[in-house]
Amino acid sequence: MNKQAYIDQAEAHLFHVYNRFPVVFDHGEGVYLYDTDGKQYLDFASGIGVMALGYSDPEYTAAVQEQVGRLLHTSNLYYTPQVAAAGEAVCRVSGMDKVFFTNSGAEAIEGAIKTAKKYASRRDGHAGHEVIAMQQSFHGRTVGALSVTGTDHYREPFYPLMGGVKFANFNDLDSVKALMNENVCAILVETVQGEGGIYPAEPAFLEGLRALCDQYDALLILDEIQCGMGRSGSMYAFQQYNVKPDILTTAKALGLGVPVGAFAVTQKVADASLVPGDHGTTYGGNPLVCAAVAKSVELMEQRQIPKHVQEMTPYLVETLQYFVDKYDCVTAQRGMGFMRGLVLTIPVGPVVAKALEEGLIVLSAGKDVLRLLPPLVMEKEGIDEMKEKLTKVLDSFQA
Ligand SMILES: *Cc1c(COP(=O)(O)O)cnc(C)c1O
Repeated sequence: MNKQAYIDQAEAHLFHVYNRFPVVFDHGEGVYLYDTDGKQYLDFASGIGVMALGYSDPEYTAAVQEQVGRLLHTSNLYYTPQVAAAGEAVCRVSGMDKVFFTNSGAEAIEGAIKTAKKYASRRDGHAGHEVIAMQQSFHGRTVGALSVTGTDHYREPFYPLMGGVKFANFNDLDSVKALMNENVCAILVETVQGEGGIYPAEPAFLEGLRALCDQYDALLILDEIQCGMGRSGSMYAFQQYNVKPDILTTAKALGLGVPVGAFAVTQKVADASLVPGDHGTTYGGNPLVCAAVAKSVELMEQRQIPKHVQEMTPYLVETLQYFVDKYDCVTAQRGMGFMRGLVLTIPVGPVVAKALEEGLIVLSAGKDVLRLLPPLVMEKEGIDEMKEKLTKVLDSFQA
């Protein structure tokens, strides 16, 4: 079949809930993807922050293939060596004490919210607690996760959502303080806001949230679904702040392509919140995804991926600054590690589409931010190639 035939077949049957770009991908190798016509694309999106080690890594592939042949699924009624290893790996690199595996990021958020609510209800002897979340945040598309997502256009058609959610302004501690009281069970925040436009938390803001939570015995939930797993330059972004969450959510690059997420808690939370019967999932943490998680963590540590990100970040920043300096339509850049945004004065959608035509995969965040989430194994040569391609793209928009 040719490209258009695949697109026609897909559009004939898939619920049109995504406006997909007219590209049909066939395979990937390193930091490149290839479409069914054999055209090569440099990847600065990682499948939205998932493919941190790039495509077709031989060691990762072998580990997953081995597990496919051994055992795919058992349910959470039983133990497997893989879930034991994955649990140990996630706790070790996050510094959290206990972990629950989910099938997606949104489900990790759902579990985190339930954990916080149960913690507060055991503490107070009654339910009815509230959550403080942030404007412009993104936590996923399920009803609970949507309820704490502070972006109106994602939410409005689905009202009424889960009640008891109040929104403060990101990096504005006073706006959180104004909403804080004994009835708040959790403050939920992305350590680096992703979809909202790539905004890292300011240290004083996170420290202030930690202090507020301690004062009220509320739980600090850090959503590192996008910024976690090495992307920030440390395994988890909060590790570069003087702050530890009570609950951490992680997904995207956690399994490097198999669908898996997790929420992890401190011992204090584990001892005083969910108990058997409160929560569950059929697939979550099955042997296939857990083999992938254990191998992903192992490879990231072995290859010192966070260190590579740290070393490469100044070069990426310098390269992006070139665009800020050169083009009137690029006004600023910001981010942390390999999670970066370029602020545009022109609509970002056509820029992303044009980049794809030029063989460069990038993302948007909101209406005016070009978002870059390269595979964490990206080297200088790839950054230079991105510069060359993005220059062509932006030239075509410069009047
Ligand atoms: C992607 C994302 C989610 C949702 O994850 P899904 O796997 O798409 O459900 C939640 N929070 C953040 C910060 C994300 O980037």
